[in-house]
Amino acid sequence: MSFSVICSRCSNYRRMATEWKCSCGAPFKVVLQEKFKKEKIIRSNRSLWRYFHFFPYVRKEKIVSLGEGWTPLVRVKENLWFKLDYLMPTGSFKDRGSSVLISGLLSEISEVSGISEDSSGNAGASISAYCARAGIKSKIYVPEKASGQKMLQILSYGAQVFKVRGSREEVSKKAQEVDEGYIYAGHAWHPYFRDGIRTLAYEIAEQTRWKNFDYVYLPVSSGTLLLGFMDGEKHMYDSGIIDSIPRVVASQTTQVSPVYHKLRNLPYSPPLEVNTVADALVSTNPPLLEEMVNTLKAMNGDAEVVSEEEILNAHNLLAKSGFYVEPSSAVAFAAYLKHLREGTTNKNKRALVVLTGIGLKSQLLNENYL
Ligand SMILES: [Zn+2]
Repeated sequence: MSFSVICSRCSNYRRMATEWKCSCGAPFKVVLQEKFKKEKIIRSNRSLWRYFHFFPYVRKEKIVSLGEGWTPLVRVKENLWFKLDYLMPTGSFKDRGSSVLISGLLSEISEVSGISEDSSGNAGASISAYCARAGIKSKIYVPEKASGQKMLQILSYGAQVFKVRGSREEVSKKAQEVDEGYIYAGHAWHPYFRDGIRTLAYEIAEQTRWKNFDYVYLPVSSGTLLLGFMDGEKHMYDSGIIDSIPRVVASQTTQVSPVYHKLRNLPYSPPLEVNTVADALVSTNPPLLEEMVNTLKAMNGDAEVVSEEEILNAHNLLAKSGFYVEPSSAVAFAAYLKHLREGTTNKNKRALVVLTGIGLKSQLLNENYL
């Protein structure tokens, strides 16, 4: 085998394919033994499966795809690019994770009746879509008050939705009590989900002809985007494909900013009730927090926080330039604008902002600020 799945904290090996958490309580991660090689890219494939070779746990005949990936990289100013990852089959970058996760599970486990997941947002919609595509069932556990376009999307794909009273942790707990034949594949826990996000780094490198950016701004909540992307960068760097790694900026809201605070050794106490226009960024205590901070430190990353006003302003600027994203995606652009204003970066540095979710599903926007 050219890969292993180990604990991100104690390095214990995963014992069986259905295990999603180490006995020490930490999440698992995928470690690749094989180097990235340009000649292994399947150039005729215009989806993320052009990188099939670098996912050794997926069997070709088990791939579940809706044509995700190979999204546009658009130059908007001399040194500013947007990666349009909201142009995905379900309208968010999560499809990278879902496609690889479901393909990986079906490759390793022969009898899968369905998947259990906890998310009322883009991840829930994405996982339901890929289960529908695979012809398996999905059970999606959501907070009691979940509603709106993302819920409608989840239901439309045919998922069974269960509303759970109580905290976000209680929703997860319910999803983890799986029925016979079902597998818990919470996107924040399962290593294959964030492993699929490696393809974002590969695509960007290929689209820029292997010349990397100085800065990359990502919205960060559960950490799958950040960790998957940085894993992809590290894989290419360790393989001698790129000669530098960009400074990755984990962009968060002032209310939900555990990564920002832990990275700076500052105390963080989230508000009793999170009330932000960036409603996809609500993980106040994500299971991957430790891993995110360690990775940012090891790879010279940074974190930034932005206010509600800065998010709405960035969202408006994006829309007025033709990019219609959800407010949570605008958080990354808001962090870039703040860095420009404060001199953390400047216009001579090559910057990339990843736009992660489409604006059409968003519930909290209203006409007041247009
Ligand atoms: Zn462990």
